[in-house]
Order: sequence, then structure tokens, then C-alpha cells
Amino acid sequence: MIIAIDGPSGAGKSTVAKAVAKKLDFDCLDTGAMYRAVAWMAQHRGVELDDAAGLEDIARNCPISFGRDGGAQTVAIDGVDVTSAIRTAAIDRAVSPVSACPAVRVALVDQQRRIGRAGNYVVEGRDIGTVVFPDAEVKVFLTASPEERAHRRVRQNVDRGVGSIDYETVLADIIRRDDIDSNRAASPLKPAADAVHMDSTGTYIEDVIDQICGLARKKGAQGDEAR
Ligand code: C5P
Repeated sequence: MIIAIDGPSGAGKSTVAKAVAKKLDFDCLDTGAMYRAVAWMAQHRGVELDDAAGLEDIARNCPISFGRDGGAQTVAIDGVDVTSAIRTAAIDRAVSPVSACPAVRVALVDQQRRIGRAGNYVVEGRDIGTVVFPDAEVKVFLTASPEERAHRRVRQNVDRGVGSIDYETVLADIIRRDDIDSNRAASPLKPAADAVHMDSTGTYIEDVIDQICGLARKKGAQGDEAR
């Protein structure tokens, strides 16, 4: 089974995806981390963000893998662990132009389908319900106000010790990324026609998690009711 969770950055997708996966005993696939890993490799190799051929070469030939370090998920590209390196402000800025490159999307969507079809996955991203898994059993479009998302991102950056912790800077970046992600030609951020809309502004995140688990159980997901 695939549970697709799409929405803008900072809507709470990662928190919700991890909690839903834990309750239902699913795996998690963070597709944003894959675009971030390609952006990191581009910077590492000095590939310009408008060099479509250079970006495609990275997306096609540098394998991205997910691992575990205790309870936390780790990400590597071409064998280099980039778990923390992909969460910096520089990567926040570089990732939207990288993800707007159609050839990068084709290469990463291929990998995402291969990973997701291998089991039961909660997949979070921007185009999961529309492009990557249009047949996903559960589709959720999760959003929150830009201000709420900026507050959450600042708290997250403080906890992780990476990225900007200046609210105005983070808010401006969120608004800029929403704009690029929603208006790009290739797979823009938009809800699937059959997605269930959820707004986490001022809502307990636990309610969102329970609603999604309820939708998945209706479609046959087992999981542990008590978790
Ligand atoms: O989810 P996260 O904020 O880590 O995603 C980083 C960027 O990757 C997004 O701003 C977006 O440009 C891109 N992305 C995408 N499609 C996805 C997931 C992420 O274009 N499925």
C-alpha cells in the first residue's frame, strides 16, 4: 500500500509521515531528501544550477540510498552520508531550481517508484499523488499557513542545529519556494483531484495522524491500533 502525503514545505509532512509509518508498520520515503541530495552533489561538484545536463548526470548516475542510525533515517548519495549536509540554508536555496529540472524529476521518479513498489510506504513530497503514485490507496494534501510553517521550520532548524533560525529569513524562503514549486512547468505542487485536504494550522498534529491512519485502515492497512 502507498500512502501519499503531498504539500508545501513545513506543513508537517515529515512528522506526520514518520508517525503514520510507525503506527501502521510502514516504511517512509522522503522524496524531498532525494532532490536535496542531488542539489548537494551539484554544489559539491561545482555543477551550475542551470546546467540541465550536469544535473541529469548526477540524478541518473549517483545512487541515493536511505539507511538507519538508531531511530533516525540517514541519506547518502554516491556513498557519501549527507543527512545533515542537505538541511543547510544553501541547499534550501539550491533545491527548488534543481527540482524544476524535468530530467532530474524523471530520474528520481523512477527511483521513487522502484523503492515504493517494494513494500508498504508512506511517501512524502509534492507530486506523489499526482505523478509518482497516481494509484496510491490514500492521498493526503497537507498544508498550513506560511507563518505557522515558518515557525515550525525555525524550531526544527534549532533542534537540528542547521539552517537559518531567523523567522523573517525562513518565512521569505518558504514563500519563495512555494512560488517556484507551484508555478514550475514540471510536476508543479498541486493537490491530486482525489486527495483528502488537511490543514494543520492550529490543529493538533496527532489528529492529522489519526485521520490518515483511519483512511489507511479503511483501505486494509493493519498496523497496531495501540501504537
Ligand atoms: O520536502 P522538502 O522541503 O525537503 O523538499 C525540498 C524541495 O524538493 C522542495 O522545495 C521541492 O522543490 C522539491 N521536491 C519536489 N518534489 C518532491 C519532493 C520535493 O519537487 N516530490
